[in-house]
Amino acid sequence: MRNLSQLELWFAAGSQSLYGDETLVTVQEHSEDIAHGLSQSSQIPVNIIPKPVMTTADGITKLCAEANRNDRCIGLIAWMHTFSPAKMWIAGLSTLHKPLAHLHTQYNRSLPWSTIDMDFMNLNQSAHGDREFGFIGARMGLNRKVIAGFWRDDAVLKELGIWTRAAAAWHDSQGLKIARFGDNMRNVAVTEGDKVEAQVRLGYLVAGYGIGDLADCMAEVSGREIDKLVAEYDEVYETAPPLRRGGKCRPALREAAKIELGLTAFLEEGGFQAFTDNFEDLHGLAQLPGIAVQRLMAKGYGFGAEGDWKTAALVRAMKVMNIGLQGGTSFMEDYTYDFGEPAKVLGAHMLEVCPTIAGRRPSLEIHPLSIGGKADPVRLVFTAGSGPAVNACLVDLGGRFRIVANEMEVVQPEKPLAKLPVARAVWVPKPNLEAAATAWIYAGGSHHTSFSQALTMKHLEDFAQIAGIEFLSIGNRTHLEDFRKELRWNDVYYLLNWR
Ligand code: MN
Repeated sequence: MRNLSQLELWFAAGSQSLYGDETLVTVQEHSEDIAHGLSQSSQIPVNIIPKPVMTTADGITKLCAEANRNDRCIGLIAWMHTFSPAKMWIAGLSTLHKPLAHLHTQYNRSLPWSTIDMDFMNLNQSAHGDREFGFIGARMGLNRKVIAGFWRDDAVLKELGIWTRAAAAWHDSQGLKIARFGDNMRNVAVTEGDKVEAQVRLGYLVAGYGIGDLADCMAEVSGREIDKLVAEYDEVYETAPPLRRGGKCRPALREAAKIELGLTAFLEEGGFQAFTDNFEDLHGLAQLPGIAVQRLMAKGYGFGAEGDWKTAALVRAMKVMNIGLQGGTSFMEDYTYDFGEPAKVLGAHMLEVCPTIAGRRPSLEIHPLSIGGKADPVRLVFTAGSGPAVNACLVDLGGRFRIVANEMEVVQPEKPLAKLPVARAVWVPKPNLEAAATAWIYAGGSHHTSFSQALTMKHLEDFAQIAGIEFLSIGNRTHLEDFRKELRWNDVYYLLNWR
C-alpha cells in the first residue's frame, strides 16, 4: 500500500422519521457538508463518504453489512445530528466488523443566541442524540473511538486523522501475508508466539519458507537486472571506494543486488507485505541480506530479524500509518547505553535499519560481520535525524498480545561514530532511561522494536484499541508504582475479557 487515498471511511448521520421530511433533508445536507469538510482536511488521509441519513433498523443493518463487504471501506463514522433511538442500531452494530468512530460534534459552532427557536432546537440535538448512541455503545461493550468537539477544529481533525491511520493499518493487517525465511533464532523466547492466535486476532498469515526458496528466486535474476540496480545504488548513495566500479569488493555489491532482486521477486510473486530472516539459516546465500532488507523496508515492507514475525507485522502496520507523513519507520533494537547526563540508548541492529529514518544521505559500505560465518555483507550506514520518536513492540504473553510503547527524543551522537559500521539512532527515552527501561522490562517488552519518527503514542494506542489488544504506554507521565499496578490490573482485566 503506497497511498491511503484509495481508502474510504463511511460517514452516517443517525436520525428517525419522527422529524418529518423537511428536517431529514436538512440533516442529509449537513451530514454531506461535514463529510466533505473532513475529506478536505489534510489531517485525514482517506476519503470520507457520506451515506444516507439512517432512520430505520433495516437501513442501519444494511449499511453495516455493506461496510463489512466493501474492500475500500476501512470503518464507519457515526454522528447523531438529531435523536436516533438507539435500539435501531443494535442489530447493525452487532454485526459490524470494521472499526467504528463516534464523532460527537454538531453542525453549527455557535449557538444563535438571539434567533434560536424550536425549529433550531428540533434540528440540532447531537448534545443529547449522541448520548443515546453512546449508551448503546457502552451497553453492548462495543470497541469504538469517541471523538468530541467541533468538526472544523484542528484538534478534532487531528484526532480523527490519527484514528483513520490506525484504521488503515488494521485494514492492511486483515489478510496480510508475512514470509518467514527459516525459523526462529534458536533458543530466543520473545520472538516466538502463537501464529494461529495472531491470525485469529490480528488477521495476518505467517508462512514459513526454506532459505532455498529464496535462493531459487535469486538464481532467476539476470546480469542485466543486477547492472541496473547497482547503477541505482551508485547514484543514490555515497558509495565507499571498495564497492565502486573497479573496486575490490564490487562483486560483493553485485551479490547484494542479486539478493535484493531475488527477495523482491519472491515477495511480489507471493503477495507478501512483510518478512523475516535468520542469520543462523543462510544456506545458498553468500552474505546476510543487509541493503536488500533496508531498501525493502524503505518501500513499505515490514521486517523482523531472527524470525521475529511479530515485529515484522508491527513495522508493516506502522509503515502503513506512516504513509504521507514526515519522518520514517524502521525495525530497531536497543543495543547499548550511555549512562551519561541524560542517559541515552544507542539503537541499531546487525544491519537492518531502514533508511527512511536517515538524517542525511546514507553511505553504502561493506564490513565483516562478527556472527553468522558468511561473506562480508553490504549495508547502508547512517545516523537517524534528531526529534521526537516512538518505539513499540508486540509481545505474546501466552494468554494475550500486548503492545508496549515508549516516547523518546532522538539526539545526535556526542562524537562521530567513526568506527561503527552500521545504521543507528541515539535517543533519550521518556521519562528517562532508567524509568523507561524498568517499565519496559516489567512489561516484558522485547529487544526488537518498531521505531518511528512519524508516529505518536496516539497512533499506537488507537491501533491497539482497534485490534482489541493491551496497550502499555511509557512516557513523561509514567510512574513506576502506577505502572506496576496497571500491569496487575490488566492481568485481571484480560483474564475476564480475553475471548
Ligand atoms: Mn536482533
